[in-house]
Amino acid sequence: MTEIPKDAIKCLDKGFVRLVETMGGDDAIVQAARVSYGKGTSKVSQDRGLIRYLMRHRHTTPFEMVEFKFHCKMPIFVARQWVRHRTANINEYSLRYSEARDEFYYPEPKHIQFQSALNKQGRLGNVPKRLTDKVLKYFKEISERSFDMYRELNEAGLARELIRAILPVNLYTEWYWKNDLHNLLHFIGLRSDSHAQYEIRVYSDAMAEAVKKVAPFAWEAYQDYVVSGLRFSRIEQSLLEQRLPDRVIDDILEDVAYQITATLHNNKRREDADLFPLYQKQGGSDSEDDFKLKWASGEIEIGNVRELREFKTKLKQLKK
Ligand SMILES: Cc1cc2nc3c(=O)[nH]c(=O)nc-3n(C[C@H](O)[C@H](O)[C@H](O)COP(=O)(O)OP(=O)(O)OC[C@H]3O[C@@H](n4cnc5c(N)ncnc54)[C@H](O)[C@@H]3O)c2cc1C
Repeated sequence: MTEIPKDAIKCLDKGFVRLVETMGGDDAIVQAARVSYGKGTSKVSQDRGLIRYLMRHRHTTPFEMVEFKFHCKMPIFVARQWVRHRTANINEYSLRYSEARDEFYYPEPKHIQFQSALNKQGRLGNVPKRLTDKVLKYFKEISERSFDMYRELNEAGLARELIRAILPVNLYTEWYWKNDLHNLLHFIGLRSDSHAQYEIRVYSDAMAEAVKKVAPFAWEAYQDYVVSGLRFSRIEQSLLEQRLPDRVIDDILEDVAYQITATLHNNKRREDADLFPLYQKQGGSDSEDDFKLKWASGEIEIGNVRELREFKTKLKQLKK
């Protein structure tokens, strides 16, 4: 099996993720989206805004225009979880055709932990050294013994497609794995999450490095709207509507009016005299003196006008 190539990211003790090739990047997302939204101008800042808009509104197909092909080597039990992501194109090393190689995953002692009582799919706590030594001894014993048997049966001419079944799932396998950005982000969202098993997380994090480089705006938007974004159920919204005092919502709406004004001014400079009326037009209710004080503080954040207006609509919906 393949040694760790120079341009690969090493994963676990003997595995790796190597980006073989890509098609497109942020530009391909924008190019595809402009087919549906019309051409317009395309400054870098507008490209970023468009990508953020698409991500926010889950208009996902433009993200499918970007493709990633990886060469990966991982233990079979990791591949077993990985293969559940059905949208990828995969070609795997064949143990029917080729001989198995004596390459097994042995966990680092710090990753040998107890079964978590809280999270039935997790591990927890420090294991005493005598126990980690025993775990590693058993991993090695079963791996070496099964491989000796495999080799003996292979040399006796038995069919490889059958005798491979005596090898354990910590045996390394490798594959070419191709997917588009939309589905790759979905994979990374699930498998780089803290609930995912450590051994697959390592591979997902390695692929995330490629995404950050190839499509940085899409990566940023995915973090902002999907990974760190919150969605409320109908029941949760109803609780917020009932419990959130109107004065709190009004305070936030006030901040939003300032932010929209500052963003509009940042996008297209206004005369000083036009700023207060512009702020009032956005629903701002401070007096002109208070407005001038706050404006001069330099503390108003610039945002995205469309996003801020959408936020304003949501806030108003929460008011009784
Ligand atoms: C922390 C964690 C724990 C898990 N635990 C278990 C477990 O205990 N047991 C278990 O069996 N699995 C488990 N899984 C696997 C999980 O149930 C999913 O199979 C896996 O994450 C792939 O997700 P997906 O279907 O969204 O991805 P993909 O297969 O990549 O699909 C991407 C999206 O395409 C669409 N899609 C793809 N194929 C179809 C289809 N045939 N029909 C409709 N829509 C489709 C769906 O919208 C889907 O979200 C776990 C996964 C995670 C991350």
